[in-house]
Amino acid sequence: MKNIGILGSTGSIGTQTLEIVRNNKDLQVTALAAGSNVLKMEEQIREFKPEIAVMWSQEAANELRVRTADTSTNVLSGMEGLLEIASMEKLEVLVTAIVGMIGIKPTITAILSGKTIALANKETLVTAGHIIMPLAAEKNVSILPVDSEHSAIFQSMHGENRERVSKLLLTASGGPFRGRKREELTDITVEDALRHPNWSMGRKITVDSATLVNKGLEVIEAKWLFGVSPEKIQVVVHPQSIIHSMVEYADGGIMAQLGVPDMKLPIQYALFYPDRRPMEGKRVDFYELASMSFERPDTETFRGLLMAYDAIREGGSMPTVYNAANEKAVSLFLDRKIKFLEIYDLIQGAMEHHKTVKFPSVEEILDAEAEAYEYIAASRRF
Ligand code: NAD
Ligand code: MG
Repeated sequence: MKNIGILGSTGSIGTQTLEIVRNNKDLQVTALAAGSNVLKMEEQIREFKPEIAVMWSQEAANELRVRTADTSTNVLSGMEGLLEIASMEKLEVLVTAIVGMIGIKPTITAILSGKTIALANKETLVTAGHIIMPLAAEKNVSILPVDSEHSAIFQSMHGENRERVSKLLLTASGGPFRGRKREELTDITVEDALRHPNWSMGRKITVDSATLVNKGLEVIEAKWLFGVSPEKIQVVVHPQSIIHSMVEYADGGIMAQLGVPDMKLPIQYALFYPDRRPMEGKRVDFYELASMSFERPDTETFRGLLMAYDAIREGGSMPTVYNAANEKAVSLFLDRKIKFLEIYDLIQGAMEHHKTVKFPSVEEILDAEAEAYEYIAASRRF
């Protein structure tokens, strides 16, 4: 029996992780955490019987406690609750499927407690990779990628000599606005941006895919996970999303991982690595697919990608500002307070305004986040 905890259990990755638990009887859910969806958490508690369930807000936790008084699940709240999960004695694998930088502290605590991390929460690595990766190495803890591209790279490195990697080829679908020019993006609505061609995901990451900021975050995530410099990470637009990413080696050979676009495979791979458990579902039919195509990303229109390379080259606290300004800008866009293209302006403005701290501590990372938020509030008077 493998005991797992899921931070962000009511979200897109969280619910797909629970589907895998349903199909693999040797997985036991020991702890669950979510933001505010009390009803969904109640259902999950009744089905999976975790020892601990955490709601971010105190109010939601109080309501959940009343609703589940007849169960043996202990309900906690806030950061304290997340940290309690991260350090639970019994827990073996922590799936970090929370959205945003809130994942930093629980991930660090889980590493300190020797837990394997199945990492979906890319914002944690983008902002605190310089703390997380050395700490994981020191504690001999595995960080197994759940993000599909990084899982593909990880799978393509299996059994290979990592010293011989010459390039990571990170594939991108191009999002719903691929092929459009800047002037055609001025009046994009929230509904347009939430219509992703291939993947069904949470709202924030779906908007990030439309701006290509998601790919920018993934370049930074790849740098930390695989220890490869950003110049050796090339983004390739591949609209069919069948090749999930590739690794080129010193002899010119390229290893790739292919499959239908479904997050359940990378989640399951992280949970059972290095085993490949059977999984039902659609398969790639190459006769039906007939062709795959590739393009250079349009970085002039989708400015989010180059800004990520700027942020990682500058290093220190700059990737935090890139990420935090984006988190704020996307939430303003989803609230219909700014236009689609203003997301880029706010990220750029926040980055220009920031004075980099070279090796930021967790507190300094959180300060840089707060500063980016303040910059946006001040510049736009929201
Ligand atoms: P989502 O919005 O669908 O779900 C987020 C989950 O986090 C929800 O359960 C929510 O309740 C919970 N949450 C939010 N704030 C919280 C808080 N303060 N405390 C506790 N729980 C909180 O998001 P998602 O699409 O599942 O993405 C989760 C993470 O995985 C993100 O970092 C995203 O970039 C990454 N990711 C997602 C996909 C995907 O296919 N959805 C693919 C690759 C990577
Ligand atoms: Mg991805």
